[in-house]
Amino acid sequence: MSDPIIMVVKRTSDVRIHTFVASFAYNNIANATHIIETEHRLVLVDGQFLAPYARAFRDYADSLGKPIDRLYLSHRHPDHWFGLGTAFTDVPVHTLSETMTFIRDHGEDSRSDHQKLGDLAPERIVVPEHVAGPGEETIDGVRYVFDRVTDTEIDYHLTIKLPETGVYFTQDLIYSGTHLYLTKHMDHWIRVLQDMLVSEYELFMPGHGLPADKNEVARNIEYLSAARQAVDNGLTGDAFRSFLLQRYPERRCPGIFDIYLPRLFGGASDY
Ligand SMILES: [Zn+2]
Repeated sequence: MSDPIIMVVKRTSDVRIHTFVASFAYNNIANATHIIETEHRLVLVDGQFLAPYARAFRDYADSLGKPIDRLYLSHRHPDHWFGLGTAFTDVPVHTLSETMTFIRDHGEDSRSDHQKLGDLAPERIVVPEHVAGPGEETIDGVRYVFDRVTDTEIDYHLTIKLPETGVYFTQDLIYSGTHLYLTKHMDHWIRVLQDMLVSEYELFMPGHGLPADKNEVARNIEYLSAARQAVDNGLTGDAFRSFLLQRYPERRCPGIFDIYLPRLFGGASDY
């Protein structure tokens, strides 16, 4: 395991936001998970992917010396919930009802589809038991706003905003400094990002890569627009990959192409 990046991103009188970014190495796609630390407790966002990073994320949370109140799972892609079975089996997991149903019905299939990971995969899955969003909730004196965003990087995605802190947990609606996992919903995804650009929020916590500002949100829109144009121009498979690699040489984690290209162009299964 290469060293994760761990940082305190923002601090106000009643909230500290921490982020934990796994390796940018080829097979790890820089999974980013976060901690909202308030006076008495911790709220976690997503559970990491590969076992060593899940354990390290848990160790860091435990080092803060406050109980983990709950963990919010953003969506059903395994790089966000595999780590729950490794290191968070004792933590209440909250997520959208659609995500809960998917993991209950297909979680074991997803785990067996990832046998190639060996002991990097979890020994068991965790099915979330608490429904989150849409709506508002106050936890340890801090107001949270939950939204259910459809048809972007995934069919159903939970986002979390802290209005008083100006922080927006977008998870996989933003890929910060890395190549995006593209789906057929690029037009709608762009519109969701355009709304972020004119929102009051300033700090965007992505599901991959480092914490982002509005400039990075705008770069994601530009990437999606270029990709959509490439699809319209008839590019597929390796030609599509070469186009994006050449146009965005600064972006990390090209391993993501191997994951989504068979689904975007080949009709491979979604999990
Ligand atoms: Zn992801």
